Amino acid sequence: MTTTAMTPAQGLRMPPQGPRLFAARDPFLATHLDTYGTIPDVTPAQLLEQVRISGLTGRGGAGFPTAAKLETVTANAPAVVVANGAEGEPASRKDAELLRRAPHLVLDGIEVAARITGAGEAFAYLRPEVVPLVRQALAERSGLRITVVAAPDTFVSGQETAVVSALAGGPALPRFSRHRIFQRGVGGRATLVQNVETLAQLALIARYGGVWFASAGTPDSTGTFLATVHPVGQALTTAPAVWEVTHGLPLRQVLAGTAGRPPEELQAVLVGGYHGTWLPLPAALDAPLSRAGLEPYGAGLGAGVMIPLAKSACGLELTASIAGYLARESAKQCGPCQFGLPELAQNFAALAAGQVGRSGLDAVRRSTGLVEGRGVCRHPDGTARLIRSALRVFGDDVLLHQHGRCLARIGEPYGGVL
Ligand code: SF4
Repeated sequence: MTTTAMTPAQGLRMPPQGPRLFAARDPFLATHLDTYGTIPDVTPAQLLEQVRISGLTGRGGAGFPTAAKLETVTANAPAVVVANGAEGEPASRKDAELLRRAPHLVLDGIEVAARITGAGEAFAYLRPEVVPLVRQALAERSGLRITVVAAPDTFVSGQETAVVSALAGGPALPRFSRHRIFQRGVGGRATLVQNVETLAQLALIARYGGVWFASAGTPDSTGTFLATVHPVGQALTTAPAVWEVTHGLPLRQVLAGTAGRPPEELQAVLVGGYHGTWLPLPAALDAPLSRAGLEPYGAGLGAGVMIPLAKSACGLELTASIAGYLARESAKQCGPCQFGLPELAQNFAALAAGQVGRSGLDAVRRSTGLVEGRGVCRHPDGTARLIRSALRVFGDDVLLHQHGRCLARIGEPYGGVL
């Protein structure tokens, strides 16, 4: 692989020391330019080469290599760029926080993606509450025409085919199509749907280069990522804090600074959000937050959501409430969502409530197997992953619940709430 470094250009500032995405002290254009400088005037091929060198992967959850996505869309031009800030995951706040604090980095990233792919049009598809902030930022600048569209507040509205459907005036639901959206998406054109954090990282790579970007993190997970960490004991709907974290940092270090409770007082952490994986604690406390570091636990960072669970709380009860939400939020277009997820959620709720014996666990296992790999999108698979990890990590508790008792309450009869 070539390892060409970017040459300094006029208007370029030194790379920020410390936080990268959150380096500017306010969201205005003058401060943004004062902090990061302008984007160097280099060719699309040079920009793409830097993205390749950077090792940047998508920050929306799937973790797909950004350079490969850009190349595919470019090869199928004419192209359209869509900044995806729908953030349908209810436990995630990082995209909204990024747009609140650094909207111009995201808008720069849209321009860089458009320059690489040759797109003449772009959309910003965002949670309704950040739409005014982004419109305000757009009013401060000229350049590429970017149309801002409010995304419906649903779990699946940010799925790529749902985004394309919504931008065409249809429902924001996942769609089956013979064509992939990078071949034929918005208006029949090749469409790059890229998470807003990925675009902000792209804006930094365009300025400081791929080598700089990869100087933080690990070989397989380069750079920093935004993490939404929920303080222990608070409702998931309470506004959590968003942190910029360097890939490879041990889980212990992140939880120690953000969870509001010493890591030793936690029994597990849900990593990756509602479609994520429970990690057992303290066993996983030294796991590096990277692709390779989480692989032994069958986990990935997803969109960077972390939900720590105190020893005094019941992981089965929390999982049951998340599974119930996921069943209600499905688009109910495919069999596994229409019938499978409600049945799975119901079976898991019965297990968590201590209302069933051994047959309850069998029912959960059977309904989990029935939804996997059968949807048009990955919604059923994500739900199955969550359930399987809960059965694994809270295995002792499952046994007690089968006898109407709960480990979190040290063998007390079941019946409380979180
Ligand atoms: S799997 Fe579920 S969420 Fe996905 S398209 Fe089918 S019904 Fe919709």
